[in-house]
Amino acid sequence: MDFSYNDNQKMISDMIQKFGEYHITPYVRDWDENQIFPVHVFKKLGELGLMGVLVPVEYGGSGFTYNEYVTAIQELSILDPSIGLSMAAHNSLCTGHILQFGNKDQKNKWLKKLATGEFIGAWGLTEHNTGSDAGGMATTAVKDGEYWILNGTKNFITHAISGDIAVVIARTGEKGDSRGMTAFVIEKGTDGFFSGKKEDKLGMRASETAELIFDNCKVHENNIIGDIGEGFVQAMKVLDGGRISIAALSLGIAKGAYQSALKYSQEREQFGKPIFDFQAIAFKLADMATKIETSELLIYNSSFLKNNSKSMTKEGSMAKYYSSEVAVEVSSEAVQILGGYGFTKDFPVERYYRDSKLCTIGEGTSEIQKLVISKQILK
Ligand SMILES: Cc1cc2nc3c(=O)[nH]c(=O)nc-3n(C[C@H](O)[C@H](O)[C@H](O)COP(=O)(O)OP(=O)(O)OC[C@H]3O[C@@H](n4cnc5c(N)ncnc54)[C@H](O)[C@@H]3O)c2cc1C
Repeated sequence: MDFSYNDNQKMISDMIQKFGEYHITPYVRDWDENQIFPVHVFKKLGELGLMGVLVPVEYGGSGFTYNEYVTAIQELSILDPSIGLSMAAHNSLCTGHILQFGNKDQKNKWLKKLATGEFIGAWGLTEHNTGSDAGGMATTAVKDGEYWILNGTKNFITHAISGDIAVVIARTGEKGDSRGMTAFVIEKGTDGFFSGKKEDKLGMRASETAELIFDNCKVHENNIIGDIGEGFVQAMKVLDGGRISIAALSLGIAKGAYQSALKYSQEREQFGKPIFDFQAIAFKLADMATKIETSELLIYNSSFLKNNSKSMTKEGSMAKYYSSEVAVEVSSEAVQILGGYGFTKDFPVERYYRDSKLCTIGEGTSEIQKLVISKQILK
C-alpha cells in the first residue's frame, strides 16, 4: 500500500495551509479565549469545497473519498482543532446522514446548500439524560396528519445556534426499541424549533456546542429521512463514518503538538545543550512519533474499508479509540517538553492539550469504543 499523499491530498493540504495562514492562525487565540464560532470561516471553507468533501459533484460537493476527507480534517485540526471538529460534524453527521439515507428530492433540496457552506449543519442525537445510551432518548415525535409534532431537548449539539438545518433523531415508538426512533430534517425558522444554552467548555471553544429545543415543533412528513423507525439504526451507521473523522481530528491534534514539541526541543537549551540531547526528552518524542504513525495506519485502514463499502465498525472504532487516546497523551507530553512555557498561552500546546480531551468523549467515549470493539471481535 502507498501511504503517501495523492495529488488531491497534496492540493488539499497546500490549500488549507495557505488559507489558514490568513484566515485561521491569526485569530485562533481570540476565538478560543472568547468562545467565538467563526461562521464566516465555514462559508469560505464551503467555497473551497471543504463543506461537502464526500458529497458527489452532482449534489454540489467535491466527490472525494475518505482519504481526502481525512487529510482535510487533519490539516485543519493542526491549525485549529475547533475548526476541524466543526467541519467534521457538518460533513460526517448532518450532511453525511442526508447523503447516506436521504431520498433524491431531499438530497437535491439540502445537500447542495450544505456542500457549498450556504447552510451549516447540526445533528442531534444526544440528550441531557442519554449520551452513551442514546437509544433511551426522551424527545418524541407524534403524528398529526401529514405532520409530526416534536417535543424535547437535545444537548451538546455542535452548531445548535449557528446551524441553518439539523438532522434530529426523535422517538416515534416505544422506549427501549431500537426501531422506535426516526430521523427528521428541521430547518431554522420552523415553528417551535429553538436554540438553548451554549456550553462554556474546557476545549474546542471555537466550536459551538449548545441545546436544541423542540416545543410543539411541527415538521412535515417529507422531512423524514428513510423509513419511520429507522432513525437510530441510521444514526449508528452515520457514526461508523463519523469515527474516522474524530480519529483524523485526533491525528491533527497529535501532529500539531508533536511538531511544536520537536521544534522546541531543538531550540531550548538547558545545561549547555538542546533539551533534545537528553535521552528522557528524545525518547518522549520517539514514543510520540511512533504512536502518531500507528494512529495514521489505523485511520488509513478504516478509510480504505469505508471507501470500498466494506464493514468497518470494528476498525473505525479502533481508529477513533486509539487516535483519541494518543492525542491526549501526545499533547500532554508536548506540554511537559515545553516545561513552564507549555503551560502558558504563548505556545499552542496547552490548547492542543485542552482540545484533545473532547476526542475521547465525542461520538462515543473510549469506554463505548471498547464496548463496540469487544462485541465485534466476538462475532
Ligand atoms: C464538544 C461536544 C460536541 C458534541 N457534539 C455533538 C453533536 O453534534 N451531536 C450529538 O448528538 N452529540 C454531540 N455530543 C455529545 C457526545 O456524543 C456525548 O457527550 C458522548 O456520547 C458521551 O455522552 P455523555 O456526555 O452523556 O456521557 P455519559 O454517557 O453519561 O458517560 C459518562 C461516563 O460513563 C461511561 N459509560 C457510559 N456508559 C458506559 C458503559 N456501558 N460501559 C462503560 N462505561 C460507560 C462513559 O464512557 C463516560 O466515561 C457532543 C459532546 C461534546 C462535549
